[in-house]
Amino acid sequence: MESVCVRVPMEKGEQTRQRLAEAGVLDQDLRIKGEDGFLYIPVHETPDGLDLPVETREFEEREPETDAADFLGYEPRFETVGDVALLEPEEDPEAGEALIAADNGIVTALRVESAVEGEERTRRMSHVAGEKKTTTVHREYGREFVVDLTEAYFTPRLAEERERVASQVEAKETVFDMFAGVGPFTVAAAERGADVVASDINESAVELLRENAERNNVAERIEAYNEDARDVARRVAEGGGADRLYMNLPHTADEFLDAATEAADEDGVVHYYDIRHEDDLFEGAVEEIRAAAEEAGYGVEVLERVVVRSYAPYEYNVCLDFRLYS
Ligand code: SAM
Repeated sequence: MESVCVRVPMEKGEQTRQRLAEAGVLDQDLRIKGEDGFLYIPVHETPDGLDLPVETREFEEREPETDAADFLGYEPRFETVGDVALLEPEEDPEAGEALIAADNGIVTALRVESAVEGEERTRRMSHVAGEKKTTTVHREYGREFVVDLTEAYFTPRLAEERERVASQVEAKETVFDMFAGVGPFTVAAAERGADVVASDINESAVELLRENAERNNVAERIEAYNEDARDVARRVAEGGGADRLYMNLPHTADEFLDAATEAADEDGVVHYYDIRHEDDLFEGAVEEIRAAAEEAGYGVEVLERVVVRSYAPYEYNVCLDFRLYS
């Protein structure tokens, strides 16, 4: 049948599909269509605020049995990482069975049993249905990441943000990814031609980061250390400093601002992530940054204030891009 749809490059397909679903405009009764490197995603109405080309096309109707909601009688709450469905804690095991039976590429269903916790920022999960595994390969923006969902932090929800900061990276820059995890920011920067130093205290994460560097053919531009970011910061400073730093450790990144100012080159740009209450999304963090920079003899120019995503009721994951100057 004919439907209005948005056209996106193939590599942005999953990201856009999720955004359209979250906005409630995705037409789940029609099958998404791929042609000439583009995906055509059917929608009920033209989405607001998405700057994407809209057109009208013919679509096949989806077989009713390919939708988990048809088995369940309700929409299960989950997110997908690779071929694994991560069910919200309150979901029944039958939701996992239904997602696998729906035959949309999901082979394992895990239930998320905890918030992100501990220094290594991992989540506990239990097996609900399908293949017993916690590792998978996730694809975003044409890159592939092997992730272990219980051993190391990874969220597909930052895909667009990673792309935003990666698009600012220039070839030959030195980038220091202080809290690198399995390497999604690191790999994207290396793909842009930067030389990246990455650190993480989680041994499993660093092993996966090295594997992901190989998998995406950028290993020669990445140095990865299973060490505290403070220690690596010293080494980066001794090596001449970094042009760009990623500080993706929301909640506690402020404790590492001194290490960041030590590692940053004069004129260095920092992407600083935080979780902030809606009453003070940025200014409290800007004050902390200014104080730390002043200690190190730097001034701060705020380049951008970005609300990345909602995190909890009244709380947001934000990013401050700032430049240090002397
Ligand atoms: N940047 C990655 C991503 O976006 O997927 C991972 C971000 S995760 C929120 C933060 C990471 O910081 C975790 O992998 C954790 O192990 C690491 N971490 C925590 N404290 C650290 C420290 N002192 N030095 C280096 N890494 C640390």
